[in-house]
Amino acid sequence: MYYSYMDFSFQIKAKDKKTRARLGVIKTPHGEIQTPAYTPVATTATVKALDTEDIIQSRSQVVLANTYHLLLRPGLEVIKEFGGFAPFMKWDGPTITDSGGYQVSFLRTQGKELVVGSEREAEIVKITDEGATFRSYVDGSKQLITPERSMEIQSVLNADIIMAFDQPLAFSDSHKKLTDSIRRTFLWEERSFKAWEEIQKKRKNFQALYGIVQGQLDRKVRRGFMQFILDTGFPGIAVGDQTIGVDPKITGQALDTIVDMIPDDKPVHALGLGGGPEGVFEAVIRGVDTFDNTSVTRIARSGLLYIYPEDGGTKKNKFRLDVTKKVTSNKKQAISKICQCYTCQNYSAAYLHHLLVARELSGFRLASIHNVHFMNDLMERIRQSLENNDFQVLKKEW
Ligand SMILES: [Zn+2]
Repeated sequence: MYYSYMDFSFQIKAKDKKTRARLGVIKTPHGEIQTPAYTPVATTATVKALDTEDIIQSRSQVVLANTYHLLLRPGLEVIKEFGGFAPFMKWDGPTITDSGGYQVSFLRTQGKELVVGSEREAEIVKITDEGATFRSYVDGSKQLITPERSMEIQSVLNADIIMAFDQPLAFSDSHKKLTDSIRRTFLWEERSFKAWEEIQKKRKNFQALYGIVQGQLDRKVRRGFMQFILDTGFPGIAVGDQTIGVDPKITGQALDTIVDMIPDDKPVHALGLGGGPEGVFEAVIRGVDTFDNTSVTRIARSGLLYIYPEDGGTKKNKFRLDVTKKVTSNKKQAISKICQCYTCQNYSAAYLHHLLVARELSGFRLASIHNVHFMNDLMERIRQSLENNDFQVLKKEW
């Protein structure tokens, strides 16, 4: 064995009787992650509108940064000097990076030119079996990410948990494209694993590589990926394609294809898990241990704040309150009666309404603090209920 499980391990502490929800702990070189856990996304070594102290105060355990964005800006030279993106942003806890596969795949054009949004006009992606070639949206320079390069970049970024380089699938893909992406992703993940093994031998602290399950709703393909991950010996499992990010029901269906194969000694991460609290429960009851999502802070900036059932949150309103709409009652009170976050402890609904309607920068921060805290608190409630053996009671409330 070229690494020791002293450096990285996953242990289940309790299981729900009725579902596959599990209470666990992931041990990393930078501390423990109590699971199930939410991972705020620090895309470019910052969670948008928050500084690192805000992330800590919002009770976050772990952050995820994007390989693709950090590679382009500030670039590896700067990150290397700091010894990783975490010391760069002064975050002491556990960290995750994605592989860049998602970004290059969803900007891919199979060789044809495509303009993707205003800021990213220079992003033209070509994907071959070797890797993905594209132009930097920062300076227009030509970039190539291969599975080997992704492992090297992620080694410099120095997260505790890293992802295999893959080519996620989109619902709109044709059958030929899908078959092609699936074949390529197997190839890329295998190469990622080999490169990672070599790199780990030279590193001081261990990085756990997660293999990624793709395959949309194709049961056979998904199970094939799962079997491959288990046979190859990846320390963790990630699920990620468009089945995970959109509709909680579809997320459930996609996870159902592999739930019986999830082992007790490997953590499962859902990449870009969507659907708010409903999506969280759909994933947790199927054994998902950690997840990330940019929408938690993105919707905050547009004025959509999460609320508890006690505040009138329901599946129908997606447990969200639009504070940009006129505040009619309790305007002097916080948006949530029970939230313990910095925002709710200090500011009224009327003030948040004012800040977000006026698009004031402090409004983005206060709204993001609340949503990140809410998600961390929801996960803590889930963990507590698993520990107390009353997860089913909590689930009914939501
Ligand atoms: Zn709050």
